[in-house]
Amino acid sequence: MSNSVRRALITGITGQDGAYLSRLLLEKGYEVFGLLARRGTDTTWRLRELGVAAEIRLIDGDLLDLSSLIRALEISRASEVYNLGAQSFVGTSWQQPLLTAQVNGQGAINVLEAVRLVNRDARFYQASTSEMFGLAQSPEQNEGTPFHPRSPYGVSKLMAHWATVNYRESHGLHASSGILFNHESPLRGLEFVTRKITHAACAIKNGRQAKLYLGNLDAKRDWGFAGDYVEAMWAMLQQPKPDDYVVATGVATSVREFCRLAFERVGLDYAQYVEIDPGLFRPAEVEFLLGDSTKARSRLSWKPKTSLPELIAMMVDADVRRQTK
Ligand code: NDP
Ligand code: GDP
Repeated sequence: MSNSVRRALITGITGQDGAYLSRLLLEKGYEVFGLLARRGTDTTWRLRELGVAAEIRLIDGDLLDLSSLIRALEISRASEVYNLGAQSFVGTSWQQPLLTAQVNGQGAINVLEAVRLVNRDARFYQASTSEMFGLAQSPEQNEGTPFHPRSPYGVSKLMAHWATVNYRESHGLHASSGILFNHESPLRGLEFVTRKITHAACAIKNGRQAKLYLGNLDAKRDWGFAGDYVEAMWAMLQQPKPDDYVVATGVATSVREFCRLAFERVGLDYAQYVEIDPGLFRPAEVEFLLGDSTKARSRLSWKPKTSLPELIAMMVDADVRRQTK
């Protein structure tokens, strides 16, 4: 390995953002290493779908095992570490609050410790979330908005966020926290509402599914495209100083409107197919999120390139292609 080549280590490489970030870093000439948590099945389908699987070096490890993280940092000799690994689904966090806290909260601290122990000069990115704002204290949320998480997921991510700030302040690490609002893509997991909707719209169109059952249709989210958001992650680690940044589109849309647009893309009226399942409502809901990403736009020169209608078209068309194979 040459010393001039930049090396990055990504936890959560098999996830949606891991795949898009891998592709971005490879395009920029990085050697990309990924932490691979051992599962019963092959979890690399997203990396194969983006055509990057062969170029990535996977290292066995788990966020809960500090020794594996130390080993991954030693093997990769990474100068940039992106902590994207998480139990990332809010709904599941009520069923598995302790696992969520361990993987998302303690897991982030494990990565920070590994960086501190192996290479203090490595730059660190923490995948923070708008879910930390939760019961939002202002109509638009930015870096100064107080946090009020509404789920075990939000609570766990707040621990990781403050640990990132603390390692910056107490150990001088170049540790940044990206407070990203919801971002989606054709690679989004089927449990998230956007992909659940685009997948169902296609299945209903094909006659494979009769109805789509959803919970709260009035919740609003600031939805962007994951491919755009990983550019902000990278840009944060190129700054001379570490910091926290909100990354968002600045447009809030309801789940209902998302349904309308997705079904319209396949020529259907959502109202005829979507039914409410009270069991899908959450014990505590985040009704409204809208991000103010002025800081990222001015300091990182970042802005989203993909509108919500474009994102929905991309997701629906990908599901149509998959389902007609
Ligand atoms: P995904 O759920 O698609 O990916 C999560 C990744 O974490 C997977 O690669 C998963 O591996 C890995 N992982 C889970 N548990 C462990 C563990 N114990 N050890 C090692 N790896 C583990 O999430 P996204 O790509 O959508 O999100 C990336 C990050 O950004 C997450 O931290 C998420 O919470 C955060 N975030 C996401 C937002 C979004 O809208 N997408 C918004 C704001 C923040 P495996 O496939 O093997 O399970
Ligand atoms: P989140 O913002 O990280 O929780 O992302 P999700 O995609 O899981 O949920 C976004 C919003 O959609 C939340 O307010 C959910 O309550 C709402 N929602 C409504 N019906 C559903 C559903 O069937 N599944 C999911 N995942 N969310 C739903």
